[in-house]
Amino acid sequence: MFKSLDGRSVIVTGATRGIGKGIARVFARSGTRVLMVGREEEAARRAVDELSAEGEVSYVLGDVSRRKDCELIAATAIDRHGGIDVLCANAGIYPAQRVSEMTDEGIDEVFGVNLRGCILSVQACLPALERSGHGRVILTSSITGPFTGFPGWSHYGATKAGQLGFMRTAAIELARSGITVNAVLPGNIVTEGLEGLGESYAASMAAAIPLGKLGTVEDIGYAALFLATDEASFITGHSLVVDGGQVLPESPAAMEGP
Ligand code: NAP
Repeated sequence: MFKSLDGRSVIVTGATRGIGKGIARVFARSGTRVLMVGREEEAARRAVDELSAEGEVSYVLGDVSRRKDCELIAATAIDRHGGIDVLCANAGIYPAQRVSEMTDEGIDEVFGVNLRGCILSVQACLPALERSGHGRVILTSSITGPFTGFPGWSHYGATKAGQLGFMRTAAIELARSGITVNAVLPGNIVTEGLEGLGESYAASMAAAIPLGKLGTVEDIGYAALFLATDEASFITGHSLVVDGGQVLPESPAAMEGP
């Protein structure tokens, strides 16, 4: 039904753990060649070791908030894979800081990685995505910001909503180059970080989700994979919420059952 993505060149930023590693795993299994990006070498090496049984993966170190690093990431993918077909701009951070406590450094860090980093990584990959003739950009945004709020994450939410603002105009600008730009919006997803918070914390979060469970990193990977297919070529400038229905209840009463 769907045409194979075999051999396509894919970059996943923030792929050394969490959602990015899940996206990389799903793309590797689908036969693409995946370049995984993160800042810490040990974590990158471990992630590549873990996924290498699933497909063709390698890593490059880089900080997406730096233009030179983004240029190096793009050049590495071109060097190793001969081009770039798909960019999953996923790297993101979410240190909690209430509005009353936010520092200049805290604001700059979150905006630098999540928003500036997203734009810089897209910019660096543009010429190669255009050459591919079917370029795909998939941003990892969040339900936090575009749909919901959570104390401590006002700056984070602003960057995740900001990514969607960037996406809409970029989608128009890049459409005639055959490049689509879309976003996945994860709800609460089980990552290594969340696992450390314990089962009762995870259970309390799951109680707020109509499907009654947290998402997996692969759930996000499959959504990204769909947006990367040839069959999704007429979808651009849109976002796909992957949250088990979390944004739907109007009030806690909606979760009490029929
Ligand atoms: P995570 O487990 O903390 O992993 C973040 C990844 O990004 C790591 O590989 C990290 O590696 C890398 N990274 C961080 N800063 C970077 C930078 N400046 N340059 C390059 N790589 C960088 O995070 P996650 O929970 O998987 O989140 C991934 C994305 O999903 C984020 O954009 C986040 O906003 C979004 N999201 C997550 C959830 C959730 O429930 N987890 C929900 C909604 C949205 P290094 O530290 O080694 O660089």
